[in-house]
Amino acid sequence: MNEARADDYPMLPYEEVWRLIASSLSPLAPVRCDLARAAGLVLAEDVTARENMPPFAAASMDGYAVIASDTSTTRAIIGEQEAGPQREFQVKAGVAVRIMTGGALPEGADAVIPFEKASEVDGTMHPQGQVDPGANVRPVGQDIRQGEVALKKGIEIGPPEIGLLASLNYAEVLVHPRPRVFLITTGDELVRVGAPLKPGQIRDANNLALLAAVRSIGCEALSRPDPVGDNLAALEQAIRTGFAKADMVVTSGGVSMGTHDYIKPIISRIGRILVGRAAIKPGKPLTYAMVGNKPFFGLPGFPVSSLVCFEQFVRPALRILGGHKLLWRPQVKVRLAQTLHHDPERTEFQRVIVYLTSDRRLAYTTGAQGSGRLKSMVGANALVMLPAGTGDAPAGSEVLAVMLTIPEIREEM
Ligand code: AMP
Ligand code: MG
Repeated sequence: MNEARADDYPMLPYEEVWRLIASSLSPLAPVRCDLARAAGLVLAEDVTARENMPPFAAASMDGYAVIASDTSTTRAIIGEQEAGPQREFQVKAGVAVRIMTGGALPEGADAVIPFEKASEVDGTMHPQGQVDPGANVRPVGQDIRQGEVALKKGIEIGPPEIGLLASLNYAEVLVHPRPRVFLITTGDELVRVGAPLKPGQIRDANNLALLAAVRSIGCEALSRPDPVGDNLAALEQAIRTGFAKADMVVTSGGVSMGTHDYIKPIISRIGRILVGRAAIKPGKPLTYAMVGNKPFFGLPGFPVSSLVCFEQFVRPALRILGGHKLLWRPQVKVRLAQTLHHDPERTEFQRVIVYLTSDRRLAYTTGAQGSGRLKSMVGANALVMLPAGTGDAPAGSEVLAVMLTIPEIREEM
């Protein structure tokens, strides 16, 4: 059965593929989320400060709370204000309160003389010189004033934003939810990790690799432990289950021209295929569709193809669902240490190791770049992008690299 074959679909240029994907997607509807689980999510509303931060004038150093204009050379210490409940003191001329960092500035005081700038003998303090009003005091609302927009809609929540929201007493925030992805690996030849291998079978590398890829970008990954065989009914059932449980379904395998490649026929029946072939390498049979109002990616089964397509298409698509404004990894110009051969028909993503030093960015190939060679991805920290219409990129030339990770500093090769 071949209702829709791969060659029924036009070969779309890379830019067009992404344009079709992006224009079909919008952020998931906002939900309230516990602040403790909000890291990595995108804020879906402006957050206004309900309180001043800090909420009261406090000492920013350990010392003595005084009146700055007081010229007394000795001052009686009437007590101590630690960081904690505010005590009842009245600071007047000739008087000081010992105060700790974070302690509420006592009534009457307007400055703090640090311990280093005073001496203390028998309950009396002797300042060494004068202080300015406001010295070593954090005024009310110094960081953020009540009523001010503290965080803008659209920002990604990280540790500092969580700290700020906690300071402003937001136990919950409105965010775009973490996208959920349902993964299905397909192929009669596949066997899950740990199960015995019969002749003709190979292990399912993509299930765990793609689960890790989804989780590494802060999305939720669901999957079946076992691959699905090349069987129309079983595949359709698995895909429908996936859509019932997740915001996106991603399959690997079964999108090519083989007689057992069923993904396109199934999806063309239950959804609308927007991309059926792409002028990219690896990943020519990449399939993208909308099923109802949910996105579907059919990734090619070759482990390298599925991971590169994940990186270049699924990841930014998930970022759109998550409400992110910034979709792309950093792209930097790198100099090639070796010549990279490139077929001008397609936009190619070659795996490289980029060595970043303060004045050089040198890219070394990871070796043979066949789609079946998973080793070419191991250790790669970047994908060099060789656009369609260009030929070989010679050693010494500058090309664009998508940085998959910004490496820790290391010695150059
Ligand atoms: P397909 O896209 O189904 O035509 O598969 C292309 C190649 O990738 C075949 O050699 C498959 O055996 C291999 N392959 C497909 N799925 C996986 C997988 N999950 N893990 C490892 N190799 C796979
Ligand atoms: Mg297959």
